[in-house]
Parts: sequence; C-alpha cells; structure tokens
Amino acid sequence: MRLDAVRALRVVVGLGAGVAVTGVEDRRGGPLVVGVELAVRPCCGGCGGRVHGHGASTVGLADLRAFGRAVRLGWRKRRWLCPEESCAVRTFTGQDPAVAPPRARMTSRAARHATRRAGLGRAISEIAAELGAGWHTVMAAVHRWDVMDLSGPYRKTFTDALPRAR
Ligand SMILES: [Zn+2]
Repeated sequence: MRLDAVRALRVVVGLGAGVAVTGVEDRRGGPLVVGVELAVRPCCGGCGGRVHGHGASTVGLADLRAFGRAVRLGWRKRRWLCPEESCAVRTFTGQDPAVAPPRARMTSRAARHATRRAGLGRAISEIAAELGAGWHTVMAAVHRWDVMDLSGPYRKTFTDALPRAR
C-alpha cells in the first residue's frame, strides 16, 4: 500500500474536500497546530468574474481534541481582488462557514461540541480547558451556536445551564 500523506491528513483532520491541509506543527507541550486553507479559488460575488490573490492572513481557531491532545487550526485566509473596474466588490476574504463563521475563534465543529456540552450542564471553564480555548471564546461560540444550531432538545437544558455573566 502506498501512503498518500496528504489524503491521509485530510481524512484525519476531516474538514471536507474544499479544505487543503498545508502543514502540521507539533510544538512540545503545546497544542497540535494544523495549517489549512480553502482549496478552491472563488469567483467574485459581485460580477461572477475571476479574482486575483491579494494577500492572506492566518487566524488561529480552537478545534476538537484529537488523540488526547488539544488542536488548533491555523487557517490561512486568502484575500481576493476583483479586477473589474465597474464591479462594486473590490476585495474580499475567502470564507467557509463549515470551517468557521467570519470572526470566530473556534471551528464550527468545536463550537457545536461546546454548545452541546454546555447544554448538558458542563461548566464553560471545563469546556475551555478541554479544548485549550479561552473562557470568552467558548462563551461566544456557545451563544452563537445556541441560536443557530440547537433549537431542539438541548435548548431547555442549555438555557437552564447557562452561567451568569462574569
Ligand atoms: Zn467583481
């Protein structure tokens, strides 16, 4: 059997075909850092035309634990420029809510996990420690995903378990 390392990584990281794994950083004593970027070049949302690369910045996102370790995604978010002069869109950043919503500090799957845990009565501080994330990061994710994602059976328990603001 030949090992296709990139495919193996994609399966282990489990982020779907639209996401490319660009590297893994194993810092001793720290979280496992997995570098990702979107694999597909988008079209302009204004005119539908081709766009050019216009720089990138990397955001760190707390992710689900893997193999007993905290994991962070280093999402290299590319910026794109529409060259069409008559187009209202000048530049935009590539987004994929399946990975994380804009401005989130945590992946969507980690945020859903945190929200379910909170709904079952786990303390935010415990969830934060589990994921290697800050208390405010977890609280913000739980607020966001409670509204977006959990209208079902978790709703009542979550509301009961919601800690007072501190
Ligand atoms: Zn355009």
